[in-house]
Amino acid sequence: MKRLAASLLSLSLLVACAAGPDSPIVTSGNDTEPSVLLAGGLVFSGDDRPPVVADVLIRGDRIVSVGAPGATAADLTLDVAGLAVAPGFIDLHSHAVRASAARSGLFRWPDAGNLVRQGVTTVIGGPDGWSPLPLAEHFADVEARPAAVNYGAFVGHGAVRNRVIGLDDRPATRQELQAMRVEVDQAMHDGAFGLSSGLVYIPGSFADTDELVELARIAGRHGGIYISHMRNENLDVLDSVAELILIAEEGGLPGQITHAKVMSTSMQGRSVDLLAMVDAAVARGVDITLDQYPYAAGSTGLTVQFPRWSRDGGNAKLAERLADPEQRARIRDELIYQLAEVRGRNDPANVQLAYCDFDHSLDGLNLSQVLEQRGRKVTLGNAADLIIELQLAGGCQAIYHAMHPDDVAIIMRHPRTMIAADGGIEAPGNAHPHPRNYGTHARVLGHYVRELGVLPLHTAIHKMTGMPAQRIGLTDRGHIAPDKVADLVVFDPATVIDRATFIEPHQYAEGVHHVFVAGQAVLLEKQPTGARPGRVLRSSAHRNEN
Ligand SMILES: [Zn+2]
Repeated sequence: MKRLAASLLSLSLLVACAAGPDSPIVTSGNDTEPSVLLAGGLVFSGDDRPPVVADVLIRGDRIVSVGAPGATAADLTLDVAGLAVAPGFIDLHSHAVRASAARSGLFRWPDAGNLVRQGVTTVIGGPDGWSPLPLAEHFADVEARPAAVNYGAFVGHGAVRNRVIGLDDRPATRQELQAMRVEVDQAMHDGAFGLSSGLVYIPGSFADTDELVELARIAGRHGGIYISHMRNENLDVLDSVAELILIAEEGGLPGQITHAKVMSTSMQGRSVDLLAMVDAAVARGVDITLDQYPYAAGSTGLTVQFPRWSRDGGNAKLAERLADPEQRARIRDELIYQLAEVRGRNDPANVQLAYCDFDHSLDGLNLSQVLEQRGRKVTLGNAADLIIELQLAGGCQAIYHAMHPDDVAIIMRHPRTMIAADGGIEAPGNAHPHPRNYGTHARVLGHYVRELGVLPLHTAIHKMTGMPAQRIGLTDRGHIAPDKVADLVVFDPATVIDRATFIEPHQYAEGVHHVFVAGQAVLLEKQPTGARPGRVLRSSAHRNEN
């Protein structure tokens, strides 16, 4: 098998030289390129349909044919009988690129081991209102340092607002709104797939609904979608859903609730109401979808627990307010409320530190453990003080165990929900990330499909392939059919599973055998090949203009 792997890899590299990332689209009919046959697998088309047993023939970067087993010969044949053959998974919410280049996994770990071991072949960045700007420059950077996986991006509303207005908590003036329109327009020309917002973060939270409608309209004009980390995902989540639907409706574009969830004990079960609002909007012609990661815990900075008024102007201003006893007391009360009712479910142990750049010995500990280590009593008040101390020391990323598993399954089953990790590219030994980085797609296939029976396998695959591809207009990916780009995953439906946990997050998923990106193996016989055929994907609006 080793010899086979080596020859297939060299074959792949040969193809890589023939068709670099900038070369024009190669048609499938070129007989001079070496071919690879995935023989006898259970082929899932990427549509919501059960599989068929078939041979899939790849030549160059394309799928040439999908046909009866045994009817085709190739330069190289991989026997995949009994295994699932699916389009490579497309993740519409990725933190592969982060505000700090030093934390951008796409550049640090371009082999994307945590992703390819799950079958992910395309990640779309720029989520939650943040993207690099200008996008054209950013895309050139990525093209200069290709990764194993494809990369595209949304343009972040918060990034645009920060560029034009800074971090002030106030409405945009007419001129500023116009300047933001121009930024969004430029990013869409550069190939963004739509506009993202992060309305719990600064400066996104400082924008009113009208501002978002105005900017969404520009994205919509270019065929983009509006994808939002909503203002609230707990007690006021339904108000936030109403706002998102309004923005999509008024903006005249499709809307997507990203990492859809309901947090806090008192909202348990209300996913049903959230989905009913989506159904009602769809019924009257507003195109709303959702994406989700399959965990009952979320992850974001500790900062989001601080009241919005205290964050006006950014972290330096927050520190000034915390130095004032009266304001600090108000902030502390809000943090206690957050711990009791919202993200802490009344127990500081439900808030776990993922990583603290100023002190990595804290990574992985929950707030109760940190208090105990420091000889302090575990109370909500002490936990609130601890959050303030951690914030002033530099802040931490945290994991919040604040959802109910039933709500996760209810949202997953909805026909308009896709799977997206809200993770990035991570590598073993680096901090203590949320396990969704290593496990999302494998967990849906193994735990939710095989173990719990929440979804049929073909439906789960559709939510990772054909559905996200269609959502952002990736017409040549997300499906197994002649002429589509050969982004493919071969996995064992009987064994595929996530291994990453909240205690031990740096565990690769299991059960994925081979992964191809544009016809090149990036994972072969469960081993990364080191090939980096990933491309920058730009929206069809961009392609039509150029
Ligand atoms: Zn988010």
